[in-house]
Amino acid sequence: MSMKLGEPPVKTLRRTKPFIPDFVYFEPAALDYPRGQKIMDWVVSKNLPYKMTSSHNRITGLPGDNELQQYKNAKRTLVVGVRKTLKFEQSKPSAEYAIPISTGCMGHCHYCYLQTTLGAKPYIRVYVNTEDILGAAKQYIEERKPELTRFEAACTSDPVGIEHITGSLTDLINFMAKEEYGRLRFVTKFHHVDPFLKLNHNGHTRIRFSINSDYVIRQFEPATSRFEERIEAAGKVAKAGYPLGFIIAPIIWYDGWEEGYADLLQRLSIAMPKEPVKDLTFELIQHRFTKTAKATIEKRYPKTKLEMDIEKRKKKWGMYGQNKYVYPDEQQNALREFITERIFEHFPYARIDYFT
Ligand code: SF4
Repeated sequence: MSMKLGEPPVKTLRRTKPFIPDFVYFEPAALDYPRGQKIMDWVVSKNLPYKMTSSHNRITGLPGDNELQQYKNAKRTLVVGVRKTLKFEQSKPSAEYAIPISTGCMGHCHYCYLQTTLGAKPYIRVYVNTEDILGAAKQYIEERKPELTRFEAACTSDPVGIEHITGSLTDLINFMAKEEYGRLRFVTKFHHVDPFLKLNHNGHTRIRFSINSDYVIRQFEPATSRFEERIEAAGKVAKAGYPLGFIIAPIIWYDGWEEGYADLLQRLSIAMPKEPVKDLTFELIQHRFTKTAKATIEKRYPKTKLEMDIEKRKKKWGMYGQNKYVYPDEQQNALREFITERIFEHFPYARIDYFT
């Protein structure tokens, strides 16, 4: 079926439901914290099976006859633990530090870098010692002031997708609202933002939505909220006065990409409030992969249409000593120029933070 520019795709009535894990593990020490206890109460109220584990980093014996089944089951397993490492990783280019409240995600985006960075531990870990984590954040803020310190909460997970279980982002937003020199940001592919709408955020938290062309979302982003749901949620957070942003990532070169990305920006402009959104930002990230990622993705999503032909890519030195493969300069420039023009056509007041 062909689709004209600006015409929304055929809508289904399915609402993406909040995530409910199939199985939960608790570290005993997690139950010494109110958040751990609260999650336990929730697990019991939902009648979910659970057991205790000595460490959130050592979950073994996940069900499944083969690696692929175990991987799928791991993505439906929640592990509740205490974060011991309070040294924050850097998070360039979008923030100074990654603030660790969770690791892992129930989404099944084929291209997701967590598949390689989390290796054999794709289950979802959440950390209940929020006070300790915020204490460490406070120190980082103090060290850098009067420079602003930005913390990214979605480096190793999609925390919005599990907020109904943890409530951690709510605490972070409340904390950062009172920090003159601290800022919070996170990005999501989920639309479950209602817990944030009434908070007194003081403009110190930027909520960004990851968006993409209809083709990319349909082909490569199973188990996440639909585009329409994300945009509806974006309208709500803009109305609640949060600084708002969109991340178009990964930008993928495919047959029809121009039409796809033009259509994306057009549909976005139709769905967003008519008045200019204050301080609206875009971040643009082209698709990239490492050889390790390619091998993992081909194993976990054997039918994927994700193009990862090294011959068609440009090699770029990456962090952690692994080369990554991006698009050749000519394609990069075409993608950047075309999408930038479409953004300014519809959102002339927006700022593009970076293309990488
Ligand atoms: S929603 Fe984000 S974190 Fe989750 S699988 Fe997709 S890309 Fe990865």
